[in-house]
Amino acid sequence: MPNNIDSKCKLCRRAGEKLFLKGDRCLSPKCAMVRRPYAPGIHGHTPSRGGSEFGRQLAMKQKIKRLYGVMERQFRHHFDEVRNIPGVTGDQLLSRLERRLDNVIYRLGFAASRAQAKQLVSHKMFLVNGVRMNIPSYEIRVNDIISLKQIKKEKQFFKDQEELLKNKKDVPHWLSLDAEKQTGKVLAMPGREDVGVRVDAQMVVEYYSK
Ligand code: SF4
Repeated sequence: MPNNIDSKCKLCRRAGEKLFLKGDRCLSPKCAMVRRPYAPGIHGHTPSRGGSEFGRQLAMKQKIKRLYGVMERQFRHHFDEVRNIPGVTGDQLLSRLERRLDNVIYRLGFAASRAQAKQLVSHKMFLVNGVRMNIPSYEIRVNDIISLKQIKKEKQFFKDQEELLKNKKDVPHWLSLDAEKQTGKVLAMPGREDVGVRVDAQMVVEYYSK
């Protein structure tokens, strides 16, 4: 599978906003968006002239893709999944991305970044409604229960996580977390406002409509 080989911090600097791709470092003064809050490259300090409409739509698509750590084909697949659902397609796309299993694991606090969550899911660490699930893009639904596999709780990584989970204060309103049992529940469908980063998914709809 092709991977984006750019440094994660460069992706944020290009997007002009923190995308929280590196876990704890993103919240520290070492964050590149704190130390060098301008675009990478020799023209990084030059104010942008805005670019063409197509360029802005492309940049928005890239920003959302990178935020959720998905490659082009998968992103397009998510778009195709939601394009015929009644409602605003851009909002449906963001909701679908928020409901990816790897994103939910990250939001609950089991992982420091979406990339780490994706790896943990691929390594079969989690159950959804009691069934082992190793597909990071799996679509979570309301009332689903996400839990850590009993045997994995003994791993040092998750013993360390337990304390972090107990202190976690920013679980989104559409999820609930039982830190003692290392279990989460989906209470509602996430909306556009739950993304936490400035995005306009309608620009992606326009981009794919050309
Ligand atoms: Fe790097 Fe900061 Fe972006 Fe995290 S938020 S990936 S530390 S630039």
